[in-house]
Amino acid sequence: MNKIAIIGGGAAGLMAAITAAKAGATVEIFEQNSRVGKKILASGNGRCNITNTHLSRNDYFGDHPEFVDFSLSQFDFNHFKKFCSSIGLLLNTKDDGRSYPLSDEAKSVVLALEAYADLLGITVYCETRISRIDRVGEHFELHTDEKSHKAYDRVLISTGSEAAPQLGGNADGQTFAQTFGHTIQPAYPSLVALELDSLIPTKMTGTKQFSQVTLYINGKAEEQVQGDILFTRYGISGFAILDISQQASVALMEYAQVKIGLKLLPDLDRQSLSAQISQLCKNVPSYPIETILSGLLSSKMVTHILEVSKVPLKTPARDVNTKMIKQIANTILDWRFEVSDTHGFKHAEVSGGGVSTEELDEKSMESKRVKGLYFAGELLDIVGRRGGYNLHFAWASGYLAGKAMARA
Ligand SMILES: Cc1cc2nc3c(=O)[nH]c(=O)nc-3n(C[C@H](O)[C@H](O)[C@H](O)COP(=O)(O)OP(=O)(O)OC[C@H]3O[C@@H](n4cnc5c(N)ncnc54)[C@H](O)[C@@H]3O)c2cc1C
Repeated sequence: MNKIAIIGGGAAGLMAAITAAKAGATVEIFEQNSRVGKKILASGNGRCNITNTHLSRNDYFGDHPEFVDFSLSQFDFNHFKKFCSSIGLLLNTKDDGRSYPLSDEAKSVVLALEAYADLLGITVYCETRISRIDRVGEHFELHTDEKSHKAYDRVLISTGSEAAPQLGGNADGQTFAQTFGHTIQPAYPSLVALELDSLIPTKMTGTKQFSQVTLYINGKAEEQVQGDILFTRYGISGFAILDISQQASVALMEYAQVKIGLKLLPDLDRQSLSAQISQLCKNVPSYPIETILSGLLSSKMVTHILEVSKVPLKTPARDVNTKMIKQIANTILDWRFEVSDTHGFKHAEVSGGGVSTEELDEKSMESKRVKGLYFAGELLDIVGRRGGYNLHFAWASGYLAGKAMARA
C-alpha cells in the first residue's frame, strides 16, 4: 500500500491529494486551520481568480522561473478546466484570460474540492499543525505537539508561505525543508501595498485614481503599468501598485533606492495638459486655481498638487502664469514619492523566495536530496504576477506531485 501524507490543505495540497487518491494511493491531509483552503476562500476578493488562459514562465519570478515550464506544459489551462468540470466546477473566462468560478464565489471552489476529496476517501485532519517530520528508515513520521503519525511512504510539504498569517501563512515549510538540507531563497512580500516616505498620502487617504505608475530603482525606470491607485494612511495601494510591488520588494530587500512616479492623467502629455489648464483659466478668470483643477482631479489631491507645485491655492486664474501651469502639469504627470517599505507579509497576497527549485525535480516536485519527500505550491522559490498565476502554479505543481507520489 502506498501511504501518502500531505502537510497543508491549500490549493497545492488539495490538488496533490485528489490526483494521488484518484490513482489509487491512500492519502491523509494535515491542516493546521479549522478547515482547508482558507487562502482560496480569500482569493480574488472572495471571487477567486482561479487561473488564466495565458500562462508562461514570463508570468513568474524566482531564481529559476524556467522551473515552471514543465508543470505548465503538463497542466495548462485546458487541463485545469477539465479537472474543474470533473469535480463539478465551471469556469467563467474573461476577455483578458483571467478565469473565475462561474458562481463568482471562491466558496464554491473549496466546497467542490472538499466534496471530491471526501468522495475519494481522503482523510483530512484539521486543526493539526505538524511541528516535525522525521525520516525513519524507508518511511516518514509526522509529529504534532501531542501526537505522532507513522509509516508514510511519501510526504508532500505544501504549507504555503508567510504571506497573510491571519489565513495560516507561516514559514513552517521552510523550516522543514532546511532540516532536510534544502536551501531557502530569502522570502519577501509580493502583491502588496507600499509604504511611502511622505505624509502627503495620509492626507489623501481614500482617494482613488486611474494612473500610470513608473517604478524607479536607483533612479532608473524599471517598470511601467496602468491601473487604479489608492492613497492610504501608510502610503499607497491599488492594482497598479500591487503589479509593481514584486520588483519594488526585491529592490527594497537589496537596499536600493526605490521611487514611484505617478502620472495621474495617463492620456495627457505635458503640452496638452498645460494647454487645457491655460484654456480653463481663460474661461473663468475669477475662479481660484484650486476650483479649476477640481474639474480634473479629486479636490483632496488638488490641494497637495498645488502645495507641491508651490502655487497658492487661492490664486485667481487670471494670475496663473505659464511657469505655474508648467509646475502644476509636471506634478500631475510625474509626481514622485520615495518608497520606504512594503506594507509587510500580513497584507501581502503572496511571498517571493522560498525553497530553491534547483534542488527539486521539475517533473515530479520530488526533492533531489531526500527520496520520497515532495514540495509544491507557493512554498517554492516561484511567485507569479497578479491574474490567477499563483493559484495556477499551486494547482500545476500539486498535480505533478500527486501524480508522481502515486506512481512511485
Ligand atoms: C488575500 C489573498 C488573495 C489572493 N488572491 C489570489 C487570486 O485571486 N488568484 C491567485 O492566483 N492567487 C491569489 N492569492 C494567492 C494564492 O491564494 C496562493 O498563492 C495559493 O493559495 C498558494 O497555495 P498553496 O497551497 O501553496 O498554499 P496555501 O494555500 O497557503 O496552503 C498552505 C496550507 O498549509 C497550512 N499549514 C501551514 N503550516 C502547516 C503545518 N505546520 N501543519 C499543517 N498545516 C500547515 C496552512 O494553514 C494552509 O492552509 C491570494 C492570496 C491572498 C492572501
